Order: sequence, then structure tokens, then C-alpha cells
Amino acid sequence: MTDSPTIFERIIAREIPADIVFENDSIIAIRDIAPKAPVHLLVIPKTAKYANVSELATGDPALLAEVVHVARNLAIMHSNGEFRLIFNSGESAGQTVLHVHAHVLSGELHSGELAESSLAN
Ligand code: AMP
Repeated sequence: MTDSPTIFERIIAREIPADIVFENDSIIAIRDIAPKAPVHLLVIPKTAKYANVSELATGDPALLAEVVHVARNLAIMHSNGEFRLIFNSGESAGQTVLHVHAHVLSGELHSGELAESSLAN
């Protein structure tokens, strides 16, 4: 890729620190630095090939399924197993990091608290 690395690539490369809660060969999961819920994790495919969930679904549906599986397991480990899974897709939809990632939100969510705009930086 010719673009400069995103913040997530730099976290995956250990160039900047993060609170890593899960990692395997294809996925890393970290705590969001600006949590919008009692539990707010990011599940991030390591590949920088896909900017958003639509590209991931087309290019590697098995990896998308793995993202969902990891999200579920993390919600069980860090909360009560119930969670909201959000993929912001596109800058006008609140996506600030153009490297596909799922927000896993859990723990005493109240309706209205997590409007899409509240997930934008
Ligand atoms: P999005 O706005 O959907 O692209 O989500 C990007 C998310 O990354 C935001 O919720 C940010 O709070 C989060 N974020 C940005 N930088 C960091 C970082 N260094 N460590 C953890 N989370 C981060």
C-alpha cells in the first residue's frame, strides 16, 4: 500500500501501545481509547487490505465471520455475552480509521446513548 499506515497498523506492528485483549494470526482486539460503553472493544483484522466491512464481506467472508466470532467470545469474557456490533463505514458515517474494524459495545447500554454520531471522534 502506498498510503501511510493507519493507527491500527501501527498498533499491530507494536509501534504504539494499546490495551490488547485478544490476538491470533489474523485478528487483534483492543480496548477503545475513548469508550462509549462500559465495555468498548475494537476487533480488527490484521490485514490492511479492507477499508470497511463491505470490502471485507466481499473479499474474505470467512474473516468477517471470524470477527463476529471473536466479538461474541469477548462479550462473554468481558460482559454478559450480549453486545452491539457496529461497523462505521465511510467518513460521513463516523468512520475515522479506514481499516476495517468492529466496535463491540456491551454492559448496561441505554437506548439513545449510542447514536452513530456518538461513535465519531
Ligand atoms: P471509527 O470512528 O469507527 O473509525 O473508530 C475508530 C475508533 O478507534 C474510535 O472509537 C477511537 O476512539 C479508536 N481509537 C483511535 N485511536 C486509538 C488508539 N490508539 N487505541 C485505541 N483505540 C483508538
